[in-house]
Amino acid sequence: MTAEPSAAPSAALLRAALLAVAAALAGDRQPVLVREWADALELHGEPVGYRYLALVGVERGPAESGFDRVTEALTEARWTAHRWSGPTGGTGWATAKRAGLELTAHQGRGVGVLTLGGHTPVVFVPGREGLRQPLYTLSTGPGVLCPDCQGWGICLICEGTGRSHSPGSFGYGRCQCWAGQAGPGRCVDCAGQGRITSYSPPWTRRGHGLPDSAVARSAPRPEPTPATALDALADVAHRPCACGDLRCHWQLARTRTELRITGPCQACARPRSYAFAPPPAR
Ligand SMILES: [Zn+2]
Ligand SMILES: [Zn+2]
Ligand SMILES: [Zn+2]
Repeated sequence: MTAEPSAAPSAALLRAALLAVAAALAGDRQPVLVREWADALELHGEPVGYRYLALVGVERGPAESGFDRVTEALTEARWTAHRWSGPTGGTGWATAKRAGLELTAHQGRGVGVLTLGGHTPVVFVPGREGLRQPLYTLSTGPGVLCPDCQGWGICLICEGTGRSHSPGSFGYGRCQCWAGQAGPGRCVDCAGQGRITSYSPPWTRRGHGLPDSAVARSAPRPEPTPATALDALADVAHRPCACGDLRCHWQLARTRTELRITGPCQACARPRSYAFAPPPAR
């Protein structure tokens, strides 16, 4: 296994950038670094790069009606906010980019808890810097990684060139991906999408052993009252999914009767959900 290269600079840069935006929105309470992790990117079974991710939480962000402050804080910190949905039904979210970093801000209903999830581009190991960025790595995007292309979206036999290098193979120097629906150079299994999602055809999902997207989720049993909503988030963020994976971008929402923390597992696409008795308002 190749050592993770230059982890410190990329991960530290991301952490500092997220915490700076969070601090501008946190008022008098310190933002919390909930979790940091890395996605390995493989090519032909060898790790060729790593993407660093972090999740930061702010206990009492701007009031729900003040979600515009999130996009203002991003702009002030030189992020380009490129999509946002202002408070609708009590929730708001925004995505932004800065120098290759990407961020999603999400404000849950009723809690005032704001989460900032961010990731770096894939940092390639020495000697593989010429590789292109994949469409997805394990923790980015919906659904699960295409098992054939591991999120690259390209045909890994020809590495996206569409050319066959083995003489006498399928059709006149053409790679077998020419026969795929998405065209030469694209992954045949996911039609170049890189991930298998709830929008993928049911036979594709079943073929990869994914739960049927129509399966109803059972309501979780409420757990004891956490001290704060952020404590509950920090707790949940360290619990593995039934498949054993921790990767998840959590969202919070609070009603009069419960604090709900939800997110789809990034490794198996299972919807995950935890409910707590709501902590006292502060
Ligand atoms: Zn694929
Ligand atoms: Zn190919
Ligand atoms: Zn899972």
